Amino acid sequence: MVKINENYLKLEKNYLFIRIAEKVNAFQKANPDAKLIRMGIGDVTRPIAPVVVDAMKKACDEMGVKETFRGYEDSGAGYDFLRNAVSDYYRSFGADVPASDIRINDGAKSDCGNLVDIFGDDNIILITDPAYPVYVDSNLMNGRQIVYADSNEENQFAAMPAPDGYELNGQKVFPDIIYLCSPNNPTGAAYSKEQLAEWIAYAKQHGAVILYDAAYEAFISEDNIPRSIYQIDRAKEVAIEMCSLSKTAGFTGVRCGYTVVPSELKTMASDGTEVSLAQLWNRREGSKFNGVSYPVQRGAEAVFTPEGQKQVKENIIYYQENAHVIAETLKELNIPFTGGINSPYIWFKCPFGMDSWTFFDKMLNEIAVVGTPGAGFGKNGTNWFRLTAFGDKDLTIEAMNRLKELVKNSQ
Ligand code: PLP
Repeated sequence: MVKINENYLKLEKNYLFIRIAEKVNAFQKANPDAKLIRMGIGDVTRPIAPVVVDAMKKACDEMGVKETFRGYEDSGAGYDFLRNAVSDYYRSFGADVPASDIRINDGAKSDCGNLVDIFGDDNIILITDPAYPVYVDSNLMNGRQIVYADSNEENQFAAMPAPDGYELNGQKVFPDIIYLCSPNNPTGAAYSKEQLAEWIAYAKQHGAVILYDAAYEAFISEDNIPRSIYQIDRAKEVAIEMCSLSKTAGFTGVRCGYTVVPSELKTMASDGTEVSLAQLWNRREGSKFNGVSYPVQRGAEAVFTPEGQKQVKENIIYYQENAHVIAETLKELNIPFTGGINSPYIWFKCPFGMDSWTFFDKMLNEIAVVGTPGAGFGKNGTNWFRLTAFGDKDLTIEAMNRLKELVKNSQ
């Protein structure tokens, strides 16, 4: 009889956003006239930049003409025009990433999950808590053991490495794979260069690999915050970076991202031979992935042109202004928060000592505003709450006015 991967049975049954949707649907049914404002799911709302739309249309036209039609892409790693554009983009903020180390994909989520294929199941995984749930799930699916680094109010939700290791089954252990996400989803916190240098030194000391998720790099507005881990010395010896055009350029429905596995990143097989992780990754991808569609890659290329950068920046500024409105409201209400400066996420402490699901219900039922309970991202989110700046400007302002009323009326 067929045997299932029993690890799937250990996954959280009720995925966060399904539970939220159920609660919102019930509320709407009971209150059909309520003007609901959604600030929960981290999806963008602004349309794709015109220069990107034009590039994709042109590429579609090319596909309909014999001379310019394209079938399978040779390597599946991405066309040179896009890999070179990404490499130039990295150079624009001081990271030297050759095109040959870059692979184009259909968004960062796939590679967040797929990268674990090249690592043994006996690795110990370190994940900061709270975290983007994909890191936890994709390792639980392979039965890996996970330890957590606490991100909390004390460290401003930027967990740093534990010099004495992490507790696992009553013992102190050091991680083999370290997930870092900066700017962070859900907390909006971002690591400084000095903090990342500490993580890199820790990874080197313990022979670990860092999986660095830079999906929100385009929202960084402060100079001392790196856009890429490769802005830090020796990062290429320990870090793989994943990035995405989803939030940078509104590609959540178009699907395009990129992953960097540096040629300098080497480790050892059990027989002592040196192994290049880039080679393993290319081998994995060669067998399991046939690349991203040509029109999408042409659209992505347009994002990196000067006109593309100008147009996508307009949307980012729009979201940053929303983030500012949310942050100012929380300041006015004296509610502790992180994020909003280098991130479209604002992460705040639930007022009145509430836990995050109770506060979710209160916001939904009393002011018809939907956010995301921090508990869905890990134990350190139990009393915290995430709002996103990806919505409409007027609705964001209205939601914040409602929040002010809610807090004042509940005091
Ligand atoms: N990484 C983080 C931290 C995210 O928040 C997301 C999406 O919300 C992703 C990766 C995946 O993005 P995509 O698959 O759309 O590129």
